[in-house]
Amino acid sequence: MTHKCKVLVVGGGVMGASVAWHLTKAGAAVTLIDSGPGSTPSATAASFGWVGGSASTPSDDPAAFALRLHALDEFKRLERDWGLLPVTVRGALLWGATTDETADLIAEHLAAGSKIESLSGQQLRQKEPLLVAPPDLAAWAPDDFALEPTDLARCFLQAARAEGASVLSGTVQAVLYAQGRAKGVELQGQSIYADKVVLANGYGAVALAAGIGVDLAIEQQPAVLMRFDAGKNVIQHLLCAQDLELRPGKEAGLMSALDYPQQGEAGLQALADETCQAIAQLLQLPVPPRLHSIEVGFRPMTLSKLPLCGPIGAVEDLFAVIAHPGVILAPLLGKRAVQAVLAS
Ligand SMILES: Cc1cc2nc3c(=O)[nH]c(=O)nc-3n(C[C@H](O)[C@H](O)[C@H](O)COP(=O)(O)OP(=O)(O)OC[C@H]3O[C@@H](n4cnc5c(N)ncnc54)[C@H](O)[C@@H]3O)c2cc1C
Repeated sequence: MTHKCKVLVVGGGVMGASVAWHLTKAGAAVTLIDSGPGSTPSATAASFGWVGGSASTPSDDPAAFALRLHALDEFKRLERDWGLLPVTVRGALLWGATTDETADLIAEHLAAGSKIESLSGQQLRQKEPLLVAPPDLAAWAPDDFALEPTDLARCFLQAARAEGASVLSGTVQAVLYAQGRAKGVELQGQSIYADKVVLANGYGAVALAAGIGVDLAIEQQPAVLMRFDAGKNVIQHLLCAQDLELRPGKEAGLMSALDYPQQGEAGLQALADETCQAIAQLLQLPVPPRLHSIEVGFRPMTLSKLPLCGPIGAVEDLFAVIAHPGVILAPLLGKRAVQAVLAS
């Protein structure tokens, strides 16, 4: 019997789950370890789940934008493999403060290779009948969609388990290291050995890598996810109207992703009130929107803004897979991790 490469994947957010599935499918004997809900903050649990290129401006970072567009094809691959993905809504509508701004946005996206179309105010109203005052021009991104990030992570984990992966619950305290190689991890006082260790636990990877002298240039940036009670099917698509990002919730209501307020936690209620007002001005709702919940998630971001997907430091058999935006990039980086981890 041939020896299967034993790989420990630390982190069961969308990135770790994708890495675990791709490695398992490629023939590795994978064990994924995750702290479990609530014990360590998970960006995936607070994520908006927008998959597509239209929410970002290509000229901000052309290389990152091209990578996002490329990453979208990987969702088609997943759909072919699994059938359905946990998609809540398809298609995105965007507009700026003025018609010129929207026209510029459309021109920039077309030049960068996005699939994006112009819509008149009338066409926009047909797509979103509850808009109070549709602008004369909007951008329509038919291929963008929003999915439920925790459901996507669960799909990866279920598929990995079905192919033979094991999943353990607990917090990894340290990477085991000897003679220049990673040998496994310490999990709640127990040593677990493997041929390779992959850190896919977001910002938590920084402390584990530092424990064996590897410096990871990663920071975490907060962002806010708010849910609003607003009835069912009040919008049919992703909306990005100037600074307001909105989408339907999985069952009902609306979700909005927002920048973390400068005042910190003390600014969250005011932000919620402003967002409620902005929604009420944007949409003619049967009932006024009411805040349902606020979640703050910490997004792991590499300082280089490039994805980390490969060996780290001078330690053999130690890898990291960390990137932003992690939901969009998870299928692509899971695939790339196979090459990086198993071919080395
Ligand atoms: C409000 C908000 C909106 C967002 N919107 C989008 C979007 O629209 N599109 C998009 O692509 N991205 C979006 N993101 C970013 C995206 O959610 C993250 O990039 C992605 O979820 C990161 O996934 P991850 O698996 O790397 O990290 P995480 O989800 O943080 O997962 C890390 C996991 O590792 C576990 N862990 C940590 N340390 C240890 C340890 N020592 N031992 C065991 N387990 C450990 C944690 O419990 C956690 O489950 C958004 C984020 C936020 C907060």
